[in-house]
Amino acid sequence: MYLEDTIVAAATPPGRGAVAIVRLSGPRAIEIAQKLWHPRRESSQIIARQLQLGDIRDPQNGKILDRAMCVLMPAPRSLTGENIAELHCHGGIYLVGKIVALAAAEGARIAEPGEFSRRAFLNGRIDLTEAEAVADLIDARGASALRQSLAHLAGALAARVHSLREQVIAIRAHLEAEIDFSDQEIDLPSRQAIAADVMTLSENVSVLYQSFTRGRLIREGARAAIIGKPNVGKSSILNLLLGVERAIVTAVPGTTRDLIEESVDLGDYSLVLIDTAGIRESPEEVERIGIERARTAAEQADLLIAVFDSSRSFDAEDAAVIELVHGRGGIALLNKHDLPQCIGADDLRSRGLLLQVVNFCAVTGDGLIQCRETLAREIEELAGGMATNEIVISRERHRDALGRTLEALGSALSGLRGQMPPEIVAIDIALAAESLGSITGEVSGEDVLDAIFREFCIGK
Ligand code: GDP
Repeated sequence: MYLEDTIVAAATPPGRGAVAIVRLSGPRAIEIAQKLWHPRRESSQIIARQLQLGDIRDPQNGKILDRAMCVLMPAPRSLTGENIAELHCHGGIYLVGKIVALAAAEGARIAEPGEFSRRAFLNGRIDLTEAEAVADLIDARGASALRQSLAHLAGALAARVHSLREQVIAIRAHLEAEIDFSDQEIDLPSRQAIAADVMTLSENVSVLYQSFTRGRLIREGARAAIIGKPNVGKSSILNLLLGVERAIVTAVPGTTRDLIEESVDLGDYSLVLIDTAGIRESPEEVERIGIERARTAAEQADLLIAVFDSSRSFDAEDAAVIELVHGRGGIALLNKHDLPQCIGADDLRSRGLLLQVVNFCAVTGDGLIQCRETLAREIEELAGGMATNEIVISRERHRDALGRTLEALGSALSGLRGQMPPEIVAIDIALAAESLGSITGEVSGEDVLDAIFREFCIGK
């Protein structure tokens, strides 16, 4: 049933625009599109994969609704591997809804989120890492996030996983040989040789596993929490860091906490600022909740921006902040540098602060450049050095699969060293192959696919 019906959805976001695209995919996509769209001259030949101008008409009464372009992409050479038709109409809210409704009246079903990509996967046009890369490309908030998703889209991660899987399969073949031919007079690889191969493979898998930190930082940005006692200038600093970008940044999707998150571009990486400052508490609870909130925000953050007021004397709350940032990466901003100075960087250091201290003024923006540079360096350090072209994983799903692979390989290794029968070791090796395969989708259940494609928007 799943692939037998034809689906329709707007591929462009809702709202007014110059152009909107209504996309159909499935066996009847071309037929339904041709009921709605007609070339300007009825005699015109329709050429596949070529945009042509025509009119969209209501099939019920023949009334023209829009002048629009149409492109037909017959199976299997299409995004989904099925027949696809795209109607490039004008971007009117009513108009797009009407065209989708007309297609539905002709027998198309409204697509579920991510269903086009899911069909592309099911029809073997893309693997799971490539499908995820499409989502990442659309969500990319910075240059390196875009680069990473493009590399994954081009199949770089899939190729790396395939090559690891081939190594697993080679090991498996050696074990199978031991199972099948151990009683015969042929040269079989020694247990030691197989164990050495498993170790090498483990190291290779481990390198990819460890790339998660960098991959996640690139994909999601580094999370930074601004902490400090009330009135030191946290909100002002947040606004300054977001600057004009505040108008164009979008709220980070998937936020379920009562904290506001916005992202700022820091060159290669983006910084997601967790705004604890916007939250207002009742006066008697300020202190308790304030510190609790700061603690929670600090725990969730990759980096901390600790703010101190240079015009007020150091107190117990400042000391609590210093305690909170102990052992963590980030920066300390000594704010309100335009006012008469009460404390300096040395005072903070003498009280145990290890972070780099930058003299700051949220009113004039003094120190902002140094602050951004320091934060960018800190992210680079978290990511394990300068950005390179190495292949990285970026999702917990990838990391978990590689974790399971490492576990299975570890167990295989002890089996080999403990002289376990080859059949037992082969089970672990098969498990390793299966875990690797789940990354690209060679083996994956419906529930996994549901989880992956659910995060896509409709029309994708
Ligand atoms: P928060 O409670 O830590 O978020 O602090 P706010 O950002 O709300 O700032 C508290 C007060 O300090 C506000 O009146 C700000 O205008 C003021 N303020 C913030 N930064 C500076 C600064 O660098 N210099 C001066 N003179 N005032 C500042």
